[in-house]
Amino acid sequence: MTTGTKASKASMPYLTEQGELIVPQTALGRYKHWQRDSAPANRKPFSIWQILAELRAPLKAWKRYAYAENLAPTNHSKFCKSAVSQGDGFVYCVDCGRYQKQ
Ligand SMILES: [Zn+2]
Repeated sequence: MTTGTKASKASMPYLTEQGELIVPQTALGRYKHWQRDSAPANRKPFSIWQILAELRAPLKAWKRYAYAENLAPTNHSKFCKSAVSQGDGFVYCVDCGRYQKQ
């Protein structure tokens, strides 16, 4: 399985130094977030925020793709049913695409 692992690694999304998300054309369909709107409901690719979470993206990447928001439970629960996840120095929500620096 060594070769298979190598091949799949080359087609994984990754982040640049600047925090830009790169999804190679060879990536699995579930990473092609730009196809989300046209995909059938049962085969939706990940959202860009789900990919950032999977890659454990740093704050600078979230700043590029997500919205800054007060994610205290009392405020977050007003517009989103999900719970936030802990990043390195920030929290984020993959459902509403918000983050808050801590
Ligand atoms: Zn949320």
